[in-house]
Amino acid sequence: MFRILLKVSLFIILLAIAVNSILKRIWVNHGIINEPRSRYDVIIVGAGSSGCVVARRLWEKSNLSILVIESGTTAPWISVVPLLAPALQGYTADWAYKTVTQKHSQLGMKNRQSSWPRGKVLGGSSVLNYLLHTWGARSDFDNLWDSGDSSWNFESVRRYFKKSESFQRISGASVTGLRGKHGPMPVTEFDTSSSPLASAFLEGLPSLGIKIGDLNGELENGAMPSQSNIWNGWRVSVVDAYLDSILDMANIHLLTSTQAVQIITEDRRATGVLAVNLYSGITYHIDATYEVVLSAGTIGTPHILMLSGIGPKEHLAQHGIPVVADLPGVGQNLRDHLNVPLYFHLDAPVSATTSKVRSIAEIWKYATKGKGFLANSGVESLVRLPVPGDNSTHSKLYFMLFNLGSVNGDLFSSIANFRNDTFQDTFPDTKNDSKEGFMILASCTQPLSTGEVRLTSPNPMAAPLIDPNYLSRQEDVKCLIKAMKTAARLGSTKPVRDLGARLHLPGYENCSTFSQSLQDDKYLECWVRTSAITAYHPVGTCAMGSSDNPMTVLDWRLRVRGIKNLRVADSSSFPHLTSGNPHAVVLMVAERAADFILEDIKRQNIKKIHRSSH
Ligand SMILES: Cc1cc2nc3c(=O)[nH]c(=O)nc-3n(C[C@H](O)[C@H](O)[C@H](O)COP(=O)(O)OP(=O)(O)OC[C@H]3O[C@@H](n4cnc5c(N)ncnc54)[C@H](O)[C@@H]3O)c2cc1C
Repeated sequence: MFRILLKVSLFIILLAIAVNSILKRIWVNHGIINEPRSRYDVIIVGAGSSGCVVARRLWEKSNLSILVIESGTTAPWISVVPLLAPALQGYTADWAYKTVTQKHSQLGMKNRQSSWPRGKVLGGSSVLNYLLHTWGARSDFDNLWDSGDSSWNFESVRRYFKKSESFQRISGASVTGLRGKHGPMPVTEFDTSSSPLASAFLEGLPSLGIKIGDLNGELENGAMPSQSNIWNGWRVSVVDAYLDSILDMANIHLLTSTQAVQIITEDRRATGVLAVNLYSGITYHIDATYEVVLSAGTIGTPHILMLSGIGPKEHLAQHGIPVVADLPGVGQNLRDHLNVPLYFHLDAPVSATTSKVRSIAEIWKYATKGKGFLANSGVESLVRLPVPGDNSTHSKLYFMLFNLGSVNGDLFSSIANFRNDTFQDTFPDTKNDSKEGFMILASCTQPLSTGEVRLTSPNPMAAPLIDPNYLSRQEDVKCLIKAMKTAARLGSTKPVRDLGARLHLPGYENCSTFSQSLQDDKYLECWVRTSAITAYHPVGTCAMGSSDNPMTVLDWRLRVRGIKNLRVADSSSFPHLTSGNPHAVVLMVAERAADFILEDIKRQNIKKIHRSSH
């Protein structure tokens, strides 16, 4: 009887989610076209986190005709359930990249490679991501992004962060003027009253001198309940936030399942795009009157630039690609956050275990109220702190409290490419579905190690080479060791200890010559090099910057150096990582890019631009 009830409930819930999702997708289908016109005013490559923002804002403030070319298609229904995000990895909505074998890290991963998921779908990586919404710290922008004329300092970018978001306090408390209230992207706070674990975690932090407040806005260092792009328990992707409501009336065409393979240039001016339908193989030559905007992401954007002859000339020559512009920085400066997972055992029954998540009660709570474990990504609190003993103000430690007692071992070990033994050492008792526990992911926000994206072939369908070159700088290891020691303290305050929390020290075979203790830095280094995993934050492969730095690819208005009418608006444009998760920063950059485009086109043709909103 119980089993039948369970199956019926599950069926009804899944059916409801599927119907809702299909309806949403039909809605989105309005803008999807089968054949592009031969010319548009602006062509945007990539309908991911950044491309959708640019398209929406251009539509809102102009009469420009806009084409967005996207390799993927509509998102699978499962993506709307926040906790199920990892289940999308490795399937059709994911480019499913793998890095090259790492020299200094990933000792515990198969073939020492890291799996790099990236969204290949309408909405891009915002469909796959863990939904955390963080702006980064003021000091990131003031010290690392600032152009010298203040155009990327915190005060300048704050306006765009606010423009993109509509922030809601869980308590219903009023939102201060520091945050955005009317932007398209909803941001909601995690409700700590629903989680004894998050409550205890945050309650314990002031005893370590850590302030609780809003890391997006007022607090440079401190802690907060996580903030996410979730609405009533549903994922809000950029398509949902920026495009869904306008596609019916907008002059935006979406060309899906189509890969842009080359930017067409004439006399160092971008004039259009060559794109291939991935099903029919038909090639389209589409002209752009004003601009081509690359929003294909940290991997896709340098890839297409190099295929088009824009990149390091020796590398292009190796692949027989004629050089249009010698830009040595294209594909370089690849930066990513590495997370060290620290697992804590718990006695109290307060964590998300596989058996609880699958229970009828949890599924019912989610289906009827949009609450419970399924309604968020699992990350319940965030902490940002200065690096002990480091005088630079911009280098930070960053921590995510992941409510995760037991996990689906097959799923998690495969998506992170863990070897079985490493996985079992990192997450003990993986076979026990009722195991109580949590994880703190510890990272350093400004690693010095940088890597690269390069061509493996002039064939545009061949995946590029990705080498993050993790931990090639010893300073990064030292910083992560400090982060681990701090994480151990964050997870051991009295309120958390009262729940029976105990740090698990993994006994990796390759670290067995060291003493399994937080006091042995050699052991901690071995731990870092064995099981630290990507935070999924790659940025920087077409960095903006000053013209006196030959490795920068874009000027401060995101224009590709040496090529007219070509701009980049996505995560590849970041000069540095920020002290948090990058998605909100990508939205901010895209919001700004739209303003730059409109201003520049206005100089050429005033009739197409108007200030009234639709
Ligand atoms: C698993 C995962 C978890 C994450 N969690 C978080 C998080 O919790 N918080 C956070 O802040 N950040 C998170 N991120 C990172 C964040 O989602 C990304 O930084 C952000 O989405 C990148 O935006 P983008 O526009 O640069 O690229 P994308 O969103 O990846 O968009 C690029 C788009 O371009 C398309 N494309 C690429 N090449 C071509 C081509 N040649 N032709 C046509 N289309 C093309 C792609 O299919 C894709 O749709 C996560 C990322 C992943 C993968």
